[in-house]
Amino acid sequence: MTSAQSIQIPPAIVVGDLAAMLGVTPVDVIKELMKNGVMATINQVVDFDTAAVVAADLGFSPEEQSTASAVAVAEPEADAGPDMSRASMRITEEGGVTRPPVVTVLGHVDHGKTTLLDAIRRTNVTAGEAGGITQHIGAYQALAPDGRLVTFIDTPGHEAFSQMRARGARITDVAIVVVAADDGVMQQTREAIDHVRAAGVPMVVALNKVDAPNANIERAKQQLLEVGLVPEEYGGDQIVVPTSALKGEGIDTLLENVLLVADLQDLKANPDQDAVGVVIEAKSDRHRGVVATLLVQTGTLHQGDTILCGLTFGRAKAMTDANGNRLKDAGPSTPVEVLGLSEVPPAGERFVVRPDEKTARAEADERRRALEAGTEGPTAVTLETLFGEIHKGNVADFNLVLKADVQGSISPLVRTLEDLSVEEVRVKVIHASVGSVTESDVQLAAAAKAVVIAFNTDAEQGARRLADQEHIEIRNYRIIYEIVEDVEKAVKGLLEPIYEERQDATIEVRQVFRVGRRNAIAGAYVREGSAVRGARVRIRRGGAVIHEGVIESLKRINEDAREVAAGLECGIQVSNFSDFTEGDEIITYHMEQTR
Ligand code: GDP
Repeated sequence: MTSAQSIQIPPAIVVGDLAAMLGVTPVDVIKELMKNGVMATINQVVDFDTAAVVAADLGFSPEEQSTASAVAVAEPEADAGPDMSRASMRITEEGGVTRPPVVTVLGHVDHGKTTLLDAIRRTNVTAGEAGGITQHIGAYQALAPDGRLVTFIDTPGHEAFSQMRARGARITDVAIVVVAADDGVMQQTREAIDHVRAAGVPMVVALNKVDAPNANIERAKQQLLEVGLVPEEYGGDQIVVPTSALKGEGIDTLLENVLLVADLQDLKANPDQDAVGVVIEAKSDRHRGVVATLLVQTGTLHQGDTILCGLTFGRAKAMTDANGNRLKDAGPSTPVEVLGLSEVPPAGERFVVRPDEKTARAEADERRRALEAGTEGPTAVTLETLFGEIHKGNVADFNLVLKADVQGSISPLVRTLEDLSVEEVRVKVIHASVGSVTESDVQLAAAAKAVVIAFNTDAEQGARRLADQEHIEIRNYRIIYEIVEDVEKAVKGLLEPIYEERQDATIEVRQVFRVGRRNAIAGAYVREGSAVRGARVRIRRGGAVIHEGVIESLKRINEDAREVAAGLECGIQVSNFSDFTEGDEIITYHMEQTR
């Protein structure tokens, strides 16, 4: 370690500012303070002597700044006040600490998600950032009135939410569902609620735009009731906070309620272990290389740690927070921008810390090999396999996403399908709505391991592409009875898969070479598709099939080949067959499961 860096500390300083000055998180300062028997919140002012102890513990050599040159010390917010009973982080008996909740904002387009995130950031970011520079890193931390931190994912919307979940990352502790008071509950509001419910994440509703001239709070609450969210004033337990993101009103109450909901979950993490977390977003920058925003979920990420993240790895060369402050350490629930990964990892990918680059590289290589061998990667969930997945414990419920052409079909279908639940398998329609299958539906299905049922409707092209990529089954039906029958069979594990033949190649026999008495090689020409060793074949002569077998040997110019493409000649031997004649046709095919 280099000799301690000297630092000038004013006679009195707010904890948050001290953290910024030392380049650590407020949590780190609070932890250091606690070690020294001082319980303080982020907004609290500590004197030089106390600050000096923390600075020294963190490797600095503190000096008292003269009063004249002392920078203005931000006053703690009047309504926040020092509150000893509610320190930012409480050390628990087991050594874990309460960590800030991670919040995602969802809701219908134009209901004010972005404005709300901006308002929170504007009014509640950690005080004392370097010159107030803020940068978009995909997540930031805001300060609640009681001095506790709340981590916000800065990419609103349920697609992003479920995309992360589809990769197996559960990052959100509390979801804020934004509903505009003038517009009420809309299609994407319902989607958002279903995405959040499927994830089992508690919700706080921000009833936004209460300032709008045609805001109708009562009507909006009535609509919430209709989707099963009963506001507290109606005797339910759904917290609904009126806000005006535009005017910055209701933000503190919203944060307080988020923390209230978070406290019920008793969110803990252990800062004294290697960091584990998730990629929030990542990109490649021409000047800085791979720039990744990571959310530390537990443990502490230190500058210089070796990170292994999916198939990529690297040393955390530099770390900054959303305010542009350099960080040396990032504790639980801290989003941090990290430089130093070798490749851009996908959002939602998990990361871990490894002792050194060699170990990380070896593991990354191992993962890549496993992926190439097909032993890793997303498992397809289909109506046929759901039963098995449920029994293997990979899936809890029999989840369905239902899309239909008309509203009238939905309620009876949902009821009928859910009635098919048996003791050990519960059928759950996690989302049902009118219209074609959208990407959002597929994301939800991927996240919840569900099958999509399209009744008299079709899938949008983007949705189909995503479904292929994520191995999500979209089943089209025109008759209710057939849906019921298939789901019933699937629930009982009785569904027989149906296979269909897919033709791969047409090959022409142009010459025949005898090999001994028993064998023959066809000198052949691949007319269409490609010939693959091991492929199933059917040999046709004059329209009739004369033999079925597999390609036992495939040669290209006397060399063994795995595959020979169209337009090329090759030598083929077929199992148990030596009776080739010029002009024979070899058709190769495979069987594909279509149901
Ligand atoms: P998003 O699509 O949900 O991210 O919505 P935006 O944040 O982009 O907001 C959509 C529009 O609503 C913008 O023109 C905002 O200025 C406006 N808006 C957002 N919040 C409020 C609010 O509290 N009151 C009013 N009157 N307008 C708002």
